[in-house]
Amino acid sequence: MKKTADVVIIGGGCMGASVAYHLSRRGVTDVVLIEREKMLATGSTGRNAGGVRHQFSNAANIRLSIESIGFLERFADQVGHPIDFHQDGYLFLLSSSSSVETFRRNVALQRSLGVDVEWLDADGAARLAPGLNTEGVAAATFCQRDGVADPNGVTMGFAKAAQTAGASVERDTEVTGIRIESNRIAGVETTRGTIETRTVVNAAGPWARQVGRMAHVDVPVDPFRRHIFIAGEPTSAESRIPNPIPIWPPTRILVIDFETTFYFHREGAGLLFGMGDPGETPTFDVTVQWDFLPQVIEVAVERLPALADASISHAWAGLYEVTPDANPLIGPVQEVPGFFLINGFSGHGFQHSPAAGRILADVIAGRDPQFDLTPFALERFAAGSVSGERYMV
Ligand SMILES: Cc1cc2nc3c(=O)[nH]c(=O)nc-3n(C[C@H](O)[C@H](O)[C@H](O)COP(=O)(O)OP(=O)(O)OC[C@H]3O[C@@H](n4cnc5c(N)ncnc54)[C@H](O)[C@@H]3O)c2cc1C
Repeated sequence: MKKTADVVIIGGGCMGASVAYHLSRRGVTDVVLIEREKMLATGSTGRNAGGVRHQFSNAANIRLSIESIGFLERFADQVGHPIDFHQDGYLFLLSSSSSVETFRRNVALQRSLGVDVEWLDADGAARLAPGLNTEGVAAATFCQRDGVADPNGVTMGFAKAAQTAGASVERDTEVTGIRIESNRIAGVETTRGTIETRTVVNAAGPWARQVGRMAHVDVPVDPFRRHIFIAGEPTSAESRIPNPIPIWPPTRILVIDFETTFYFHREGAGLLFGMGDPGETPTFDVTVQWDFLPQVIEVAVERLPALADASISHAWAGLYEVTPDANPLIGPVQEVPGFFLINGFSGHGFQHSPAAGRILADVIAGRDPQFDLTPFALERFAAGSVSGERYMV
């Protein structure tokens, strides 16, 4: 392993890999990307639902989406790796008057930034997702350019292209400490030796707070467990015979019932679905809680009745990396020169990794990122100027 580097990136998920890629495009190739697991993308990145959307409540997040989705559309050509991107849209279902009011405001904001979002009634929503029960749905929003992509493909594409340009990727290597001299970054200590560097990027996902502590910085990111379940084909004969339409929506449209946070999209011949657990407290435990499944099914069958007859083929849990206002932390830590954050994406980081990595690479390379980072600055919490993101699902 190298003994010195211009930049050391801690964490080999989509964020670390994106920063490495974008640095390499700016001529910064003396870079070491460090991942403690044997493979890249085994943290949150390898456990996520692959959803990609423009529909956010915060202008800064919408801007991240516009840039990131444009990048994902060109990814295979530009980065040279397939990412299985299907733009079959995201459909938000709204059942309360307060959600309808919030979404009306946010659709206006999204449109003002150039995003093509449709406002639908319940029948319009039902037409887009056959099999959906829209009883009680007051309104819905739909953006066709939203979709689903492969998080592993995006991470591997970024990492391989950075490696080809000269960056090193060290797996099975844990960062155990950060050296600070004269009040600025001087190096990182790892299980395979020390690397001298003046620039460290914290891309440690749900473990961002622990890596922050190594540099005596409180990074306000907490880990919350989220489950994903995979349903196979419905098993009962009754559900098939009278039903001439496909049991699951035929496209990969991603449907979110906003009030309950139940969401689903087609995954191969089956269905991927999940829901937030409002009772969950911070934990690093990713054991599947099978006793949570009945709670999810109770909500899910109201919206997608065919699920009542489906068998659950498997499930996994991963960690959301949540900040107090559900907005990420992107940029330098003012009190520790040379220490940079790309953390706290609060359950929607995969889709923002292309733009977030580009922006941080510009900052590190001394370029103007052409992006107002105020809503993503660490210092916003102390300053009390927090507007946050409301579409955390
Ligand atoms: C169930 C679930 C569903 C999700 N669905 C979506 C979705 O549909 N769309 C979306 O955009 N986002 C989604 N997300 C969120 C998304 O997965 C995350 O925001 C994103 O993956 C964060 O990427 P990351 O690179 O910051 O973190 P990670 O992928 O967790 O990478 C951090 C890496 O740092 C490594 N690391 C930590 N500490 C050290 C150390 N000391 N030394 C070396 N390495 C270290 C870890 O091993 C890990 O590999 C979902 C998340 C979950 C859990």
